[in-house]
Amino acid sequence: MGLGEQASNAVPRTASLLDQGPDIRTSRSDLRTDAAARQVPDPQNGSVAVDTQRLSKRFEKERRTNAVLSDITLSIPDGEFVSVIGPSGCGKSTLLKILAGLSPFDSGSVSVLGRRPGGSWRDVGFVFQHLALLPWRNVLGNVLLPAELAGMDRSQAMDRARHSLDMVGLSGFEHYHLREISGGMRQRVALARVLMADARLLLLDEPFSALDEITREAIDLLFMDICVRTGAAAILVTHSLYEAVLMSDRVIVLSSRPASIVGEVLVDSARPRARTFMQDGAFIHAAAQVRELLEVGA
Ligand code: ADP
Ligand code: MG
Repeated sequence: MGLGEQASNAVPRTASLLDQGPDIRTSRSDLRTDAAARQVPDPQNGSVAVDTQRLSKRFEKERRTNAVLSDITLSIPDGEFVSVIGPSGCGKSTLLKILAGLSPFDSGSVSVLGRRPGGSWRDVGFVFQHLALLPWRNVLGNVLLPAELAGMDRSQAMDRARHSLDMVGLSGFEHYHLREISGGMRQRVALARVLMADARLLLLDEPFSALDEITREAIDLLFMDICVRTGAAAILVTHSLYEAVLMSDRVIVLSSRPASIVGEVLVDSARPRARTFMQDGAFIHAAAQVRELLEVGA
């Protein structure tokens, strides 16, 4: 199957609840969407990668309560690419850590690939802000790590690692040390490592934020391509409105802490997209809607 074919049927699309046209939208409050009215994938039409119902979380520190997430209800079908954007400190990383099984939650329910969060590395991949690459290992050694931890057969692991490195354009750099490659290449190593797993779901916490803009854009496009090819669902936490719209089928906007969902914007264009998508009317329209929701939630 060609890339284009996969892209066109990767994600079922529905009309945006926000897409009412500028003539109807007279005030910012029209941009609010009711959590109950938001799109919930029909379980008959494929499985759900992530489902949270009224998820709430608070931290207690020195007898003070810090409410971080408030009633987050979110449903992400298989294969959908969703970005989560919101003010700094609102709880984005906390949300991702809960989904990754790295942090407990207080109330509500969370289902990841039909299970409680946590568990096998095989179908959920993570790339967090701090790459956690091992500096004493070379490129290949870093990519092989999850396979070694899982006890995968060595020659099978080697084949997969070479294939993963090929997907991110790092063939030929297997034996380079991390200090010998650029920041963008290190980011690709982290992506290649994630690709060692047959991930159905990728969780990414601002993975590209340390990169310069040009490198970041190139890696965004590469990563979008990989997601379409593998059919993985993804949740990308980002503070870049442009990155969110470029990459995503859907952008979810969180309010300031405690984070609740202010609204969401569907980006009406098949993935993968080219850099030129940023000049497209659909991009500009979606970016303007996300910006308005960010202002509502600030
Ligand atoms: P974001 O990723 O949106 O910038 P975070 O999820 O990292 O925000 O943090 C949200 C809030 O939760 C902040 O007020 C932060 O201080 C608090 N927080 C995050 N992790 C912890 C922790 N392990 N213990 C106590 N408070 C935490
Ligand atoms: Mg964060």
